[in-house]
Amino acid sequence: MKETIYTIPVNEAFDSADDGCPFCALYKKLEANELDLILGASMMEPDIRIETNKKGFCGTHLDVMFTMKNRLGLGLMFESHLGTLADRLKTGGLLAKDASGKCPDNIAALEKSCYVCDRIEFSLSKMINTAIILWLREPEFRKKLAARKMFCLPHYRTLLQSAKTTISKKDFAEFVKELDRIQSAYLAELTEDVSWFCKKFDYRYDKEPWKNSKDAVERTMKYLKGVMR
Ligand SMILES: [Zn+2]
Ligand SMILES: [Zn+2]
Repeated sequence: MKETIYTIPVNEAFDSADDGCPFCALYKKLEANELDLILGASMMEPDIRIETNKKGFCGTHLDVMFTMKNRLGLGLMFESHLGTLADRLKTGGLLAKDASGKCPDNIAALEKSCYVCDRIEFSLSKMINTAIILWLREPEFRKKLAARKMFCLPHYRTLLQSAKTTISKKDFAEFVKELDRIQSAYLAELTEDVSWFCKKFDYRYDKEPWKNSKDAVERTMKYLKGVMR
């Protein structure tokens, strides 16, 4: 296939010895890169400032930025963001037709919107498409995908949804079968490990080994929600 900027990172994630979800690994890289940029190099760029003012940040990314120990960077961005909020938060006076105006709608829209999430989503959806095309065209990549241990549920959903709209019905059926094999095996393994983890709290199992269950709860979290911080 035509080399795209996404081919290399996608291949790297699928080559990785880490047996977690490869798209979660890509997400984390994209996120770290985006956060470094907006609190660093591109912080003062006017067109980025316009976007961050408009979209704001989700709670998760505010928390992550808060831990990044760049209070001045965050302060400067907030100064600009807060400056644009006044107009959107106006509730209208007593004589206004609708006393609340558009304020709650505007706040609700802001709650759902995040500059960082949007930037990550843009690249990640292209990476997911790249993985599907690579699987379709490159036997080597097909082997890499077959060897993956799991995909988290949110990325499994995105993979299926993207593939459905990108590839032929016949290829899609084969793709689904392959993913189903991987996901079913992982779910069975995880279920067994969680079950053994719970048993280990029963005194009758005290002398038994932990087997592969010590991190079963953590692995289930990763499976259910994807990216963990
Ligand atoms: Zn994932
Ligand atoms: Zn976000």
